[in-house]
Amino acid sequence: MKNTGIGDLLMKSFDGTIEEHVNLKNYSFMHTEGYAKVLFQPATIDDLRLLHKEFNSINVIGNGSNVLFKGDIDRIAVINGIFNNTIAVDGERIIASAGMSLPQLARKAYENALSGMEELVGIPGTLGGAIKMNAGAYGKTIFEIVRKITVFNMKRGEIKDMDASTLTPKYRDSGLEKDDIVVEAELELNRGDRNEILDRMTNFSMNRRMRQPTGGYSLGSIFKNPKQYPAGWLIEACGLKGKRIGGAFVPRKHANFIINDGTARSKDVLDLIDLIRTRVAERFNIELELEIVLL
Ligand SMILES: Cc1cc2nc3c(=O)[nH]c(=O)nc-3n(C[C@H](O)[C@H](O)[C@H](O)COP(=O)(O)OP(=O)(O)OC[C@H]3O[C@@H](n4cnc5c(N)ncnc54)[C@H](O)[C@@H]3O)c2cc1C
Repeated sequence: MKNTGIGDLLMKSFDGTIEEHVNLKNYSFMHTEGYAKVLFQPATIDDLRLLHKEFNSINVIGNGSNVLFKGDIDRIAVINGIFNNTIAVDGERIIASAGMSLPQLARKAYENALSGMEELVGIPGTLGGAIKMNAGAYGKTIFEIVRKITVFNMKRGEIKDMDASTLTPKYRDSGLEKDDIVVEAELELNRGDRNEILDRMTNFSMNRRMRQPTGGYSLGSIFKNPKQYPAGWLIEACGLKGKRIGGAFVPRKHANFIINDGTARSKDVLDLIDLIRTRVAERFNIELELEIVLL
C-alpha cells in the first residue's frame, strides 16, 4: 500500500482489510463512479477502536442500498465484515450482528417459526443500515421489532448497549447519534406457523416484484413520502415519468425511483433529483425530502 497518511499502529493492528483508491461503484446500489482514498472493512470492535483513535469520525455504510456517492470520498468504513456472521435465536428473540441482511434474518425467523418481520423480507439492506434508517415496508418498521441495540460511538470511542425504547424513531430516521455505529441488535418476534410465515413472505416479495421496476440500478424510493401525498404520485402528476438526464431516468413503473441504466454519473442522478424537487415545489408547493443518503 502507498502512503495514505494512516498511522503505523492502525496499519499493523487492523484485523479487517484496508484498501486504497477503491472504486465505489460496487459499494452503492446506484452503481455510479467515485473513488475512496481509503476503504476499511473492520472485522472486530477493536478495529473500530483503532479507527476512532486515528480519525474520530468516519463515514460508514452497510450494503449501500440507500447510499449515493456524490463523488470522491476520503475515508469510508464498510460495516459488513465479521459483523455479518453472528446470529443466535433465543426463544422468541434473535440476536444478530449489524452486517446480517434483512432477507437473511427473515429466513432465520421463518426457520424458527418466528413471525413479525415478513413485511421486511425484500429490503436489501443490513440490520445496521435498517436500524439507522428505521427501514420499513407494508406498514411495518424495524423499530417495531428491535428491543436492544449495541452501538460503538465513533466520536467517544465507547461501546454502549441501549434499549430501543429509549430512542424516538421517526419516519426513516432512528434517532441514533450521527456517530453511532450499530454493531449488534436484538429483535423480538412472535411464535407463528411456519407455513403461514412462508406464505406471507412470498406474498410480500411478489407484491414488491410487481410494483418495483426491474433492470438497471436503483436505491429504492428516492424521496420520503410527504404527509399530503405519496412522493411517486406528486412526481407522476408533474409529468416526470420517463424523464431522463444522461444515464439516469424516472421509470414508468414507479415514479419515486431513479434508475441508472448503467451509464449514469452521480451528477446525472443529482441533477434529476434537483429537477424533480423544483417541479414538485412549483406545482404543489411541497418540498420533497430525500430518503436516500448522500455521501
Ligand atoms: C430495490 C430497493 C428496495 C428498497 N425498499 C425499501 C423499503 O421497502 N423500505 C425501506 O425502508 N428501504 C428500502 N430500501 C432502501 C434500503 O434498502 C434501506 O434503507 C436499508 O435499510 C439500507 O441498509 P444498508 O445496509 O444498505 O445501508 P446503507 O445504504 O449502506 O446506508 C444507509 C445509511 O445507514 C448508515 N449505516 C449503514 N450501516 C450502519 C451501521 N452499522 N451503523 C450505523 N449506521 C449505518 C449509513 O451511514 C447511511 O447513512 C430499498 C432499496 C432498494 C435498492
